[in-house]
Amino acid sequence: MVKKGKYAYLSEKEKSGWLQIKKEEKKLLEAFSKPYLDFLNTAKTERESVEYFHSLAKKNNFIDLINFQTLKSGFKGKKIVHVNKNKSIILSIIGKEPIEKGINIICGHIDSPRLDLKQNPLYEDTGLGFLKTHYYGGIKKFHWLNIPLAIHGVITRLDGKTINIRIGEDKDDPVFIIPDLLPHLSGKLNKKKVSDAFPAENLNLITGNIPLDDADEKEGVKINILKILNRKYGIVEQDFNSAELEAVPAIKAREAGIDRSFIAGYGQDDRLCSFCAAQSIMEISNPIRTTVVLLIDKEEIGSEGSSSIQSRFFELFLSEIINKLDPSYNETMLKKCLYNSYGISSDVEVGFDPNYKDVFDIRNTAKIGNGIALTKYTGHGGKYHASDANAEYVGKIRKLFKENNIIFQIGTIGKVDEGGGGTIARFLANYGMEIIDAGAPVLGMHSPYELTSKLDIFQTYKAYKLFLKNCKP
Ligand code: MN
Ligand code: MN
Repeated sequence: MVKKGKYAYLSEKEKSGWLQIKKEEKKLLEAFSKPYLDFLNTAKTERESVEYFHSLAKKNNFIDLINFQTLKSGFKGKKIVHVNKNKSIILSIIGKEPIEKGINIICGHIDSPRLDLKQNPLYEDTGLGFLKTHYYGGIKKFHWLNIPLAIHGVITRLDGKTINIRIGEDKDDPVFIIPDLLPHLSGKLNKKKVSDAFPAENLNLITGNIPLDDADEKEGVKINILKILNRKYGIVEQDFNSAELEAVPAIKAREAGIDRSFIAGYGQDDRLCSFCAAQSIMEISNPIRTTVVLLIDKEEIGSEGSSSIQSRFFELFLSEIINKLDPSYNETMLKKCLYNSYGISSDVEVGFDPNYKDVFDIRNTAKIGNGIALTKYTGHGGKYHASDANAEYVGKIRKLFKENNIIFQIGTIGKVDEGGGGTIARFLANYGMEIIDAGAPVLGMHSPYELTSKLDIFQTYKAYKLFLKNCKP
């Protein structure tokens, strides 16, 4: 007779992360979720995230790149912060080892799916004022109907001044709604395919109803709205042309579930990983290898543009650092540094949802509450457009996590040929660095109110800190 457990060493059984942690860790993860909730409620856009992380960095003795460049000596252990276009940010600590030996870098994104206002957004129709939108990133359009929306962003006026806008977050603020069609008249609409039933051009925010009391004015509601905006922000209609305004859910992030095991909130893809990465570098000092946390914009629309991972501002940052550390700087040093680096593409992973079993491969999909997910490759159909991490590197990360009691699991996006997606891993992999995706699993990803596990969030933070400090050749 085979003794029970005799072959246990051959195959580890999947086990809830909640059964693997001690009481003390439960306390720590509860404590960690408080500032995370505050962050989700404070920073809902890439610009607000940059502001948040920049001020966090300053509080933790990071100096702006410009001040590092004028430093005379003592570069090792120095903490540097650099902001690009107000939409992406680099946090870095200079290590003891020569930088050409490579850095440890975590890269996440701080943009999230949302509705952007168009450049001529305001119009009036049948007594109602509207703001037109163009959705940003992969959304299901019906998610955005009949939920409170806030408008965040900036408007640059002709006098050159840029005005910050944030309407709908304070408890006394008005919010914005896109009404859905009532069920009573949805007979025809209900027969349509979901992809056809909600045209993007119908995603217009209701903005006003009170007309100006002026018989000559045909568009009284619109003019009245402009009057209010002009009084408050000094803007005229054409100032929308040079604005970046984003409609985001005006819903506070909070705990979810009777056992309070979840965090529910908007934009956890990918502000969850960005928060964990930024928080972990704040707690590191005098690392062996130079450490970097790079938080970028425009991931959700394909990583194009001057604030995206492809814009090369990170290369410029690194070359300025290398130049400072060694005035005989040449491009080979920069290339060597990048080639010898270790990376984590810190992005959230798909969480297994038992209500939609048919789209997941249960053996290869991350489960909520089972820890940080390691994703060797993303992409779609035949691993197209994937950065497929090298086995040796996956092995190195597995070993590091295992030896340090990080609760982790394997993740992939779903069944083969069911769909797919990508992250920024492939852009950093182009430098020849080793890189793997690792982040917490999410339910309802890209919806206005995503669900994550406190346990997975804390494992993600622990894993990132360990990686930045201790990943070495
Ligand atoms: Mn993401
Ligand atoms: Mn995403």
